[in-house]
Amino acid sequence: MKNLSNKTAIITGSARGIGKDIAKKFSENAANVVIVDIIQDEINKTVKSLKKFNPNVIGIKCDITSENEVQNLVENVIEKFGSIDILVNNAGITKDKLLIRMKLSDWESVLKVNLTGTFICTQKVAKIMMKQRHGKILNISSVVGITGNAGQSNYSASKGGIIAFTKSIAKELAPRNINVNAIAPGFIETEMTEKLPAEIQQKYLESIPLNKFGKPHDIAELALFLCDNNSDYITGQTIVIDGGMI
Ligand code: NAP
Repeated sequence: MKNLSNKTAIITGSARGIGKDIAKKFSENAANVVIVDIIQDEINKTVKSLKKFNPNVIGIKCDITSENEVQNLVENVIEKFGSIDILVNNAGITKDKLLIRMKLSDWESVLKVNLTGTFICTQKVAKIMMKQRHGKILNISSVVGITGNAGQSNYSASKGGIIAFTKSIAKELAPRNINVNAIAPGFIETEMTEKLPAEIQQKYLESIPLNKFGKPHDIAELALFLCDNNSDYITGQTIVIDGGMI
């Protein structure tokens, strides 16, 4: 039997990048997988590629900052699969600027997607998981939520907020047998990091003892462990996966 047989997983921001690899790993492990993202064409491409591993992969277009859209998402998933066993809050954006150049809109949009979006999805899905009396919630934070980073005060604040949110919700939901954990990745090769200038990428590389960037599948392996039954006694934790960087 595969690790996630009969489990239904919602993964936000999973049309590409780290979320897509988590969706692939979960599909290979027999989960019913819901790809959530905001661009329909990208969702369709990802669903098509993952159906090779598992017919029970569906895509739902949903902006995680909209309470109505997330409520519809949850209702559609329950109608289709009957339960929600796993939520991976992975969708995230960056709008990097030094503090003195940062517009209020840069601050607000990053906090809105990364932190408020995580709150909305967690609240709506937790209602289902509390009734089921089981569930796994995994939040994708970042090492900069622990260390801070010049030029990323909005992003770092959102990712640090996710760590504190994870600890609080883990305490609230533990009596209902729901585990809540976070992963704090270092530098992972995706479109989010591709857009950084070459000299910044080189600077990051020099700070990584293992002397290489991470790949999305590194995060997917840990995500599988934190969402299957092997991690049933772990909750409220943030696991750093960064090649030794911090
Ligand atoms: P990515 O390639 O940019 O993927 C993020 C996905 O989230 C995109 O498909 C994006 O859609 C989607 N998204 C954005 N806003 C959304 C919204 N409102 N509702 C639903 N989906 C939305 O990023 P990634 O590198 O895979 O990162 C995934 C997560 O890991 C993020 O939370 C990121 O902060 C975190 N992380 C990444 C790294 C890294 O080195 N890559 C390191 C630490 C943490 P669009 O098509 O609109 O962009």
